[in-house]
Amino acid sequence: MPCSFSPERLAEVVAFHGHECPGLSIGIRAAELALRELGEPGPDMVAVSETDMCGVDAIQVLTGCTYGKGNFIHRDLGKMAFSFFRRGGSGFRAILRPEVRGGMDEEMGALMRRQADGTATPEDLTRVGELREALRRRFLDIELDEMFEITPLPGQEPRPARVLRSLACEACGEMTMESRTRRFDGKTLCIPCFQAVEQKI
Ligand SMILES: [Zn+2]
Ligand SMILES: [Zn+2]
Repeated sequence: MPCSFSPERLAEVVAFHGHECPGLSIGIRAAELALRELGEPGPDMVAVSETDMCGVDAIQVLTGCTYGKGNFIHRDLGKMAFSFFRRGGSGFRAILRPEVRGGMDEEMGALMRRQADGTATPEDLTRVGELREALRRRFLDIELDEMFEITPLPGQEPRPARVLRSLACEACGEMTMESRTRRFDGKTLCIPCFQAVEQKI
């Protein structure tokens, strides 16, 4: 079944993200999959994205898992993969199947390189636009199970809520969450201050 969100809902996603693009379509379908597998969005739903590309905006709008609420987590692994689960419950991981790009990667790669080094012709630029539009449409039209390889995630143990303390960095004085501080030469430092002294070694 092609994408099942209403045109109005999709318009909200595009408005939030700022443009339409293939990456946004991937996020839209990942969110659709999350709602198909886990039901209605809610504060107990958690999204873990292994990429920080365009699609994460669609996931935040459509699932309500947001960076600010803490139920959207970015793991910087550089993979087009997304996991969704309910706190204390089970879930799934979905990774984009490479073949859904339909062999466009090579042509697209060559065009993008010419675009980057300034040797792209006007025809090249038109072609980039065509390819991006074709991908965007394909990602919206394809069956979810054809698009993603889906694996179940075992149930997660609910983690007890913890109140994190903040400590003053002994170099810059700024309050920093304890779990993000470093120790150096007997002092408690924030990460930038730690990196500044550590790099001098
Ligand atoms: Zn985009
Ligand atoms: Zn500091």
